[in-house]
Amino acid sequence: MSTYNFSAGPAVMPASVIAQIQAELPSMQGSGMSIMEISHRSALFDQIINNAEQDLRDLMAIPDNYRVLFFQGGGTLQFTAAPLNLATKHHNIGLLDSGHWASRAAEEARRVDTQVDILASAAATHFTTLPTLTTPVDQTLDYVHLTTNNTIEGTMYTKLPQTGTVPLVADMSSNFLGQTYDVSDFGMIFAGAQKNLGPAGLTIVIVRDDLIGHAQQLPSMLDYQLFADKRSMFNTPPVFAIYAAGLVLKWLKQQGGLTAIQAQNEQKAALLYDFLDQSTLFTNQVKPADRSTMNVPFVTGNPTLDAQVIAGATEQGLLNLKGHRLVGGMRASLYNAMPIAGVQALVDYLATFEKAHTKGDLTHVSN
Ligand SMILES: *Cc1c(COP(=O)(O)O)cnc(C)c1O
Repeated sequence: MSTYNFSAGPAVMPASVIAQIQAELPSMQGSGMSIMEISHRSALFDQIINNAEQDLRDLMAIPDNYRVLFFQGGGTLQFTAAPLNLATKHHNIGLLDSGHWASRAAEEARRVDTQVDILASAAATHFTTLPTLTTPVDQTLDYVHLTTNNTIEGTMYTKLPQTGTVPLVADMSSNFLGQTYDVSDFGMIFAGAQKNLGPAGLTIVIVRDDLIGHAQQLPSMLDYQLFADKRSMFNTPPVFAIYAAGLVLKWLKQQGGLTAIQAQNEQKAALLYDFLDQSTLFTNQVKPADRSTMNVPFVTGNPTLDAQVIAGATEQGLLNLKGHRLVGGMRASLYNAMPIAGVQALVDYLATFEKAHTKGDLTHVSN
């Protein structure tokens, strides 16, 4: 039985990359040592990290005045690192309250004495829409924090808010490399790898070079300027995670780059949303224009039935469809490495489930 992994993160990686890791694991490029056993100061690793950076630059067309940094600590550490490095003038940032991860970012910024102004909130619609700016942004803010894809709520920005000269700092953790953006529209982008890039343990930071180097006396492990100067090798970087992410970046190039992968993602998402929208059993509550191509939450409205959907799916090899504990129901994550065949298998399963649970059910028939 083939299996499809709909986990929100750590998440599915390309099957060919897993096979390559397996093949190369005992001896990296004939060295007699695995990638997990080689020095991060070796010529071998130097080539791996340099290629990974170059491939990322090619894929995203990252301008030369942006630095690419390889961090640990997940997306969560960047909720602290971003204000410490970039909110140095007024210690005051703006934030679009688009759901759980935006709130977590606000919380962590406040912990390091940064004032957080909520510029817009989608709380009133229970985050089934995106918050958008209705008034001009105060130009004295150090930056505006934006979560481009809301992993739990299933919303995604395709058009960016206009912030004037105030830099946008984007938490792109769950749609990094799944949706094209113009890097020069951002002061900084960060993304934990384990959603759409590779294994956990690696976080990518892309930051405009004029924005860094203004903070005083930061802990070394949080200092963007230091990481830039040391080419992310101030200490031991996550060697294995960088290697695996590098293979995924090569795979992305083979797929035709980000424009091609985005078209595939839109096709996969449309297949599932079209099914949900005509279904009399399942619903996705997000406003169509604000829907994510990456994470699709849906419900039957009946938690007992939801549990049956998830259990039956697992039996069919459709794995990790349980919704986030904060919202319940189901969630299908359709990251880059999810093949369209996986989405088709999910839709077929849901259609069969729906038939079995509406036939002979008088409440549904009379509706
Ligand atoms: C998962 C996620 C995070 C947190 O990532 P960690 O790597 O677990 O710290 C932050 N932001 C978004 C949008 C996420 O999806």
